[in-house]
Amino acid sequence: MEDSIKYCGICPRGCRVDRGSGAAGVCGGGSLPRVSRYGLHHGEEPCLSGTRGSGTVFFSGCSLRCVFCQNHHISQQVSGREYQTHELADIFLELQSSGAHNLNLVTATHFAPSVIEALTIARQVGFRLPVVYNSSGYESLETLRSLSGQVDVYLPDLKYYYPESSLRYSSASDYFEHAAKAVLEMYRQVGPLSVDKSGIAVRGLIIRHLLLPGHLEESKRIIDWIADNLYPGVWVSLMSQYTPVHLARKYPEINRTVTLDEYEQLLDHFLERGWDTAFIQEHSSASRRYIPTF
Ligand code: SF4
Repeated sequence: MEDSIKYCGICPRGCRVDRGSGAAGVCGGGSLPRVSRYGLHHGEEPCLSGTRGSGTVFFSGCSLRCVFCQNHHISQQVSGREYQTHELADIFLELQSSGAHNLNLVTATHFAPSVIEALTIARQVGFRLPVVYNSSGYESLETLRSLSGQVDVYLPDLKYYYPESSLRYSSASDYFEHAAKAVLEMYRQVGPLSVDKSGIAVRGLIIRHLLLPGHLEESKRIIDWIADNLYPGVWVSLMSQYTPVHLARKYPEINRTVTLDEYEQLLDHFLERGWDTAFIQEHSSASRRYIPTF
């Protein structure tokens, strides 16, 4: 663990700072995992929230730092407190005891080595929940390979297709280049989505995509890429919930919500690719044509 943060290249930013000495990279992470909050979460896709909730751990900081981040208080400010790895393991066990269907690690990338250590400790004393890795998609292959065998369900975003967009809104022109490789590696590790008899995800890949206002064509390119590379095994979660929070007001073209027409057009494009394995949001009347909404 110490080596990986000494000259940190855990994510594609490659900041090469010594996090153990107090230096911070783009994500703001230090030497110990910092957790903003944790608990049972009921707002995820149905196969994750189920009836009892997803045992969600929100890590503080993020390597992507989107200007419209709805969790910016967690992802772009220092919040919560630092935990030793054995304490992080205790959190995992506490969530299991509270009835969670799974352990949902939200933006854990910059603390991946500590998370692996904590999972190892927890499993030695009875932790057995499926582990969900909830990610921005901006991942390095090396870090993902270190998670092989540790993660059961990958839940990455695919946010942008065009470098101009990812540069403008997340200061990462190489987003799609890395995220596309990352998603393929995730699929290689866990394969298509499988659920238990209660409909709870136990293994597989779910790709999330948030439609941005005025970016319908870019969203279609993302759907096309997924269809070309991962159809038919993968499930996609198409989200319409964008709201112009945080710094979005400084970007006039995204300083509004998504229209029903934009979302319906995206869903139509998805259907035209011959797919029906999608989670969609109730924003749309088209939801009646699909399987689960959330
Ligand atoms: S994990 Fe943080 S410090 Fe390390 S390369 Fe990524 S953004 Fe930089």
